[in-house]
Amino acid sequence: MSRRILFLGPPGAGKGTQAAMIASALHIPHISTGEMLRDAVSRGTDLGKQVEGVMAAGDLVSDDLVVAIVDERLSQSDANCGYVLDGFPRNAAQAEALNDAVINAIGTVVLLKADADELVSRLMKRAEQEGRADDNEETIRRRLQVYDAETAPLVSFYGDAVHQIDGIGGIDDVFSRIMLALVAF
Ligand code: ADP
Repeated sequence: MSRRILFLGPPGAGKGTQAAMIASALHIPHISTGEMLRDAVSRGTDLGKQVEGVMAAGDLVSDDLVVAIVDERLSQSDANCGYVLDGFPRNAAQAEALNDAVINAIGTVVLLKADADELVSRLMKRAEQEGRADDNEETIRRRLQVYDAETAPLVSFYGDAVHQIDGIGGIDDVFSRIMLALVAF
């Protein structure tokens, strides 16, 4: 089983939840660019100040900034034995940068799927519970558009490495589907 795993899927598909569970089960780090960026915003760092407005609008942070964060994170020793990447790459330029940065960067791609109505209803529910700055109706719509335009094309970029997983159902059911796909690969 490859331990260099990438999660792809639209906002609300459950990437963050499932990526964390898979990383913990395999004892490898969960590397989420969204979490790292939100952390920078909440700590008020220079990076946080630069990205806050872009994130609140649902647009992508510049490739240079995100690629630098990921490069730095992947160079830490705990990533030597593998990692689960969540939220990166998000467009073709980032996918190329990842390929350049690490030889055989990605072993397996998990594509989590859910239909648009389900995604919006999950994200609106999360808005009430967690109060994330980008979980409002307008920004959610924008994030879904950005996903379709920029990130969805990466499915063909990764070709045969991609496993499509149905993201509808209980958290544990979806987790089992992903584990089965990873073990079989
Ligand atoms: P979601 O998948 O629910 O939209 P994430 O937590 O992955 O949430 O990302 C939240 C926001 O952080 C994105 O809308 C974007 O502004 C920024 N972001 C995260 N990862 C990247 C990336 N790889 N490239 C550019 N921007 C990113």
